[in-house]
Amino acid sequence: MSDELKPVLEGFFTTGDKPALLGSRCTKCGTYYFPKLEGFCRNPDCDCSQFESVELSRTGTLWSFTNACYKPPEPYVAAEPFEPYAIAAVELDKEKMVILGQVVAGVGVDQLKAGLPMELVVESIPDLVEPAGKLVWKWKPMTEGGAA
Ligand SMILES: [Zn+2]
Repeated sequence: MSDELKPVLEGFFTTGDKPALLGSRCTKCGTYYFPKLEGFCRNPDCDCSQFESVELSRTGTLWSFTNACYKPPEPYVAAEPFEPYAIAAVELDKEKMVILGQVVAGVGVDQLKAGLPMELVVESIPDLVEPAGKLVWKWKPMTEGGAA
């Protein structure tokens, strides 16, 4: 057995210093999908079923956000006992698709505003009984001006 941290969901994102979500790109029309798509392209004008696995943009623009006051459904993983946190909908820079994700701990909705540049990070979930120590992707506001 290894102590290496594993993603909660295999194949949804890469890990390391610059984590990225893994999506599919239609080889015919170029439409991006996340999570990965199998079967036929959802573009009604496209009949392609060939997709390539791609790393999606690590950064995007905060499009919408909300306070999660209830336990979210899979595949989102929440701490137990449940504590409210912010969920962000971020439009990826390149793909222009909106990806939902939890906002990093310590950042509440009062610190968020639409248009904020956001960055994808991967964090472990140490305070969970199950799946303890696993990884999940989150959105983090990109600091501007370097003020700490
Ligand atoms: Zn297509």
